[in-house]
Amino acid sequence: MFNKKMNDTLAIITLNKNKKISNLLVTQKQFRFKCKRCADLCCKLGGPELLEDDVKRIEASGYFKKYFLLSEKMCRSGVTRAVGALKTKDDGSCIFLTQNNQMENICSIYEFRPLLCRIYPFMIESIKPDTFVLKFIPCCKGLNNPEGKILAEKFLSIVSNELIKLADSN
Ligand code: SF4
Ligand code: SF4
Repeated sequence: MFNKKMNDTLAIITLNKNKKISNLLVTQKQFRFKCKRCADLCCKLGGPELLEDDVKRIEASGYFKKYFLLSEKMCRSGVTRAVGALKTKDDGSCIFLTQNNQMENICSIYEFRPLLCRIYPFMIESIKPDTFVLKFIPCCKGLNNPEGKILAEKFLSIVSNELIKLADSN
């Protein structure tokens, strides 16, 4: 369970004038993450919004758009570049959420999952035009999971880069 006293800042990111990361200062060097497959705070809450590249990738995995894509008009709109959202099942969970033989929640398109699923549970907050703070969404149960790997600077940089591109397009 997340400790409310835990500092939710993972890194301070500085951008250069071309909006590329010029410095990433990791503030929690021992922070671990491993998904616990609860799906409670992500996949069970509905399908995420999709970017055009997400739709292409899922189509390439063998699904027709009409099976998985909820049209832009019907989806909640938080991401400007979103072209729609993943459909949900009757219980409100993402259409691609399933369970394996051990009854663990799994994503049936894991290799092809949308960008928003890849970057969960991380987020950024702008503190100056050229400075962002990389944080985590505190309720996720995989945070500081002792079974997880320490988050490497390279990983944090990749996640930050995706979040910055997303924020830039909004
Ligand atoms: S641990 Fe976090 S990312 Fe994993 S399924 Fe649970 S809420 Fe989602
Ligand atoms: S696509 Fe996969 S990871 Fe994303 S919400 Fe659906 S089941 Fe979860």
